[in-house]
Amino acid sequence: MPLIISSVSKKKLKPLKLKVSRTHKPDDLSLEDWQRALRKQFGEQQKFILRNNGEHPIFSEFSLTNPATGKTYKLAIRGRTAGDNFCSCPDFSINNLGTCKHIEYTLAKLEKKPGAKRAFKEGFALPYSEAFLHYGLKREIRFKPAAEAPAELRILTRKFFDAHGSLKPGRILDFPVFLTRQGASVITKCAAMTMSWLLSPNIRTRNTGQAS
Ligand SMILES: [Zn+2]
Repeated sequence: MPLIISSVSKKKLKPLKLKVSRTHKPDDLSLEDWQRALRKQFGEQQKFILRNNGEHPIFSEFSLTNPATGKTYKLAIRGRTAGDNFCSCPDFSINNLGTCKHIEYTLAKLEKKPGAKRAFKEGFALPYSEAFLHYGLKREIRFKPAAEAPAELRILTRKFFDAHGSLKPGRILDFPVFLTRQGASVITKCAAMTMSWLLSPNIRTRNTGQAS
């Protein structure tokens, strides 16, 4: 049974007390930081329903429903930095910020959990390797080997990916080869959608589904 970590409040939403103007960019913020701040500010004041569909209390897959619209989006939380996470909402797919109000809402909720500060600082170590699209101004394929990935996979990973886990430009055409050459004992969550994106720049979603 998925764990519901937030529930709908019957109280009326308080009017937004905005610290950052929605109409005028503060001089000390870049355009991107301003847009992120607006989503954070808005997201933190929402009453969404958040459901953890995975195993880990923080670094997991979630579904988030807006009771006001009845819409549900899928999220994957992997860290606190812009671009670490994924949301299936339309804003996330086009804003190039690497975040959205749903991600910001979820991060704000998760950061209140005991041990969250330390968990975010240490980063996630999933029991499976994961290939995913990293969202931001530049979209790129990244790979994070499982915590107990065999040496063979780690050597291969260094050949294909840089220190940040980003696919080296010269390896884009080889990426499917990388996926087929990994140690068979490692389950890789590769993303059919990552492959689709590789073949078609118009596809902007990331698979966070079942291991394949
Ligand atoms: Zn979203």
